[in-house]
Amino acid sequence: MSLQAVRPISVERPAALDGLRIIDAHNHMNFHGHGVHDIVQNMDALGIERTWLLTWEAPEDEYGIGDHAFMSPNHLGVPLDEVIRAVDLYPDRFVAGWAVDPRRPHAVARLRTAVRTVGVRVYGELKLRLMYDNLDLIAMYRACGELGLPVIFHLEIELPNPGGSIVGGGPRPYWYGGGFDVVERFLAKCPDTTFIGHAPGFWREISGDAERPEMYPRGPVVPGGRLAPLLDRFPNLWCDLAATSALNALSRDPAHAREFLRRYQDRVLFGRDYWDDAHLAFLASLDLPRDVLAKVLAGNATRLVPLD
Ligand SMILES: [Zn+2]
Repeated sequence: MSLQAVRPISVERPAALDGLRIIDAHNHMNFHGHGVHDIVQNMDALGIERTWLLTWEAPEDEYGIGDHAFMSPNHLGVPLDEVIRAVDLYPDRFVAGWAVDPRRPHAVARLRTAVRTVGVRVYGELKLRLMYDNLDLIAMYRACGELGLPVIFHLEIELPNPGGSIVGGGPRPYWYGGGFDVVERFLAKCPDTTFIGHAPGFWREISGDAERPEMYPRGPVVPGGRLAPLLDRFPNLWCDLAATSALNALSRDPAHAREFLRRYQDRVLFGRDYWDDAHLAFLASLDLPRDVLAKVLAGNATRLVPLD
């Protein structure tokens, strides 16, 4: 979930991807004006077989001002009910995700029920104002490991942020999850859970200049990034290519991106968090081996969440 108005919506499938299956592992109902039928039409135009539809459920005072502009006019966030409606209408086109707030009583029991009754397959999108090694969340992660649900987390460190610093009605830092060091702590505590990293606080660490104040740092990747060493240490850490954050981190240095995707080809998921073709066009431009593209675009997603 990235809340800035992003790019004009171009929908053209790059010819270099002919014959390849595509699964979008990160998108949302009613996001940027797309109801369920619009989403299916958009997927058809790009040849996207399935989309993982993720929730964003947070307490009212954890959303930023202006979040209404990109989602339902009727409520904040993306509740599970919207995902269920989409899956009911198009069961063969969607995968259901739900990140229930782990601080609520019975959260783990509710997740188990959702897995059993409405077929939730992913815990995501996690986007809450708490440190992501919070003990209630650790218990949730472990339940996800046991249930076979990958966890998609939105990490956003405190920055001068165009998303706005009025959160919950008052001036506050805009952050979700804590600093990057929190990722290592929950990975170490939950070796049986698969985590998929997403958002500006995650992707800025591809480069050694993560302390830069811009939300989306540009320019060649410099040595010393903390992301690759963490991927090397923890085989249960994966990467979500969705949103401007990942697209920026890769497109700032295409030669580095090509090597990064080859090296971590088994743990990278194509996703958009938007409705355009920018991520597809960029991947097509990298001249990656076809087997690598096949894994990134769909193979890895189906390995994590097998389709019936
Ligand atoms: Zn997000």
